[in-house]
Amino acid sequence: MNLQTRCISCGAFIRFRQNVVDRFALAKKHGAKVELHCVQCNSVKAYSVNDIKARQHKYWRLIGVFIFVVGTISVLFTVIGLAAGLNSIYAIEALAGFVVVPYLIYEGIKSHQEQRVNYFNAKRYG
Ligand SMILES: [Zn+2]
Repeated sequence: MNLQTRCISCGAFIRFRQNVVDRFALAKKHGAKVELHCVQCNSVKAYSVNDIKARQHKYWRLIGVFIFVVGTISVLFTVIGLAAGLNSIYAIEALAGFVVVPYLIYEGIKSHQEQRVNYFNAKRYG
């Protein structure tokens, strides 16, 4: 999970990564207050786990977009190639239906990520 909070001294974002699903797991690992180092002003302060928020994983977003774009293009080419050899409009329509598959995979990854982030942010510790 990608986590972030704002530095109390300078207001810069402090971002870090932890393998936790919620604030309870984070508190279990590091205590109710997590010591974080701000690279902006070089201060080390303790932050309440409730002030720490999860954020979307950029990496997963990119993978989702990549699957969406590459998948859609390759499916489109396959459909066009196959459709050229078919003369039934129903067969062409059925093939066109496959175009939505990459989109569904993309949506699946995206909503899974959003669920994880929302779950973390919704549950307050204590
Ligand atoms: Zn700072």
